[in-house]
Amino acid sequence: MKIALVGNQNSGKTTLFNNLTGMNCKIGNWPGVTLEKKSGVIKGTSFEIVDLPGIYSLSPYTLEENVSRDYIFREIPDVIINIVDSTSLERSLYLTTQLLELDCKVIVALNMVDIAQKHGLFIDTHILSSMLGTKVIEISALKGTGIDELIQYIKQDFIENKPHIYSSSIENSIFAITNYLPKNALNKRFTAVKLLENDAGFKKHSFFELPSILKLANKNYDTDLEEVIATERYNFAETLKIKAVSVKETPVTKSDKIDKFILNKWLAFPVFAIIMFVVYFVSVGVIGTSTSNYISNFVHICSSFMLNLLEKFGTSKLLISLILDGVVAGVGTVLGFIPQLTMLFLCVSLLETSGYMSRIALILDRIFKKLGLSGKSIIPFIVGSRLQCSWNYGFQNY
Ligand code: GDP
Ligand code: MG
Repeated sequence: MKIALVGNQNSGKTTLFNNLTGMNCKIGNWPGVTLEKKSGVIKGTSFEIVDLPGIYSLSPYTLEENVSRDYIFREIPDVIINIVDSTSLERSLYLTTQLLELDCKVIVALNMVDIAQKHGLFIDTHILSSMLGTKVIEISALKGTGIDELIQYIKQDFIENKPHIYSSSIENSIFAITNYLPKNALNKRFTAVKLLENDAGFKKHSFFELPSILKLANKNYDTDLEEVIATERYNFAETLKIKAVSVKETPVTKSDKIDKFILNKWLAFPVFAIIMFVVYFVSVGVIGTSTSNYISNFVHICSSFMLNLLEKFGTSKLLISLILDGVVAGVGTVLGFIPQLTMLFLCVSLLETSGYMSRIALILDRIFKKLGLSGKSIIPFIVGSRLQCSWNYGFQNY
């Protein structure tokens, strides 16, 4: 069995392909990553699956569309898995309307349901399935949900009811054209639509009566039929979205409530100032003063001990000064920083882990951008200013 993965760019085709085959093809969230088709075998089956380039329609306008279209018409897959990005249903269903015109089993896989759920989007797959006339399944290619059910659908035989998405005048023209196509021709409905669209790739299917059918079909419209058909497809996709998608209120989490307070336009800076004051107060004030007395006493004791020792050995005054005022006092100064800096780094990493730093960085981005810096520069600013304070403090003490 041959299966083709067809969908828009970035809808998750390669992610699903890797999930189904166990392969590790390159995925990327930029357009045109899969320019060539890649094939593999679905794990635990003998089904061949092909990851086709991302496309928005089956018109032959882009390289990707040509590669995908050629594959569908030359290789004639048994099943098409149409991967649809659940978060942009309307745009994705435009392609679905075209795929459903093919004489091929089409399964619509609504991918990225995890993101849709986070956005509070609820998609009624039953409505979608009945309006599209085929199987619709929610999956997350990344999280691996719905994949087993998708494989079951691939194996199942089911009857598709081709949705009639066009106005009656277009439907009548499609019907008229299909009557002129060879009885056993494949993809008759698709070919009829392409002939109405005047698609250059389908000219070979033209017949003597076609110009008069096209003329009659165009009689009711000011624009060409290709545009009429595209508009009707979009309208159908829009109707589907209106009927099948509902937006649920996303529950307000504790983190949302906190964000609302700390990222508030007026409160963000005062809150930031208070938090920074607390960080400084704890590290410089509480830890700094309490430890600095111990450390200076300790250094003082060391200094007196060394002085006694050096004087006992009759060391010159110059050398005593070098050792005590230089080495001992220098090391003492550095020691004085350590408890405060440890506390400061602990506070900063706590703020980072809690996500506050990245939030404040976002707010500060606007200001820092003016200096050519990013909001994240706040961290070296804080640490740097603290070092400067400690340094001055150290010199005042020793
Ligand atoms: P393709 O262009 O259709 O082949 O899309 P890719 O497979 O390259 O996926 C595009 C991006 O969407 C990648 O960053 C994937 O990690 C991400 N992605 C794919 N499927 C899902 C999914 O189900 N959930 C989430 N959250 N991300 C997904
Ligand atoms: Mg890809």
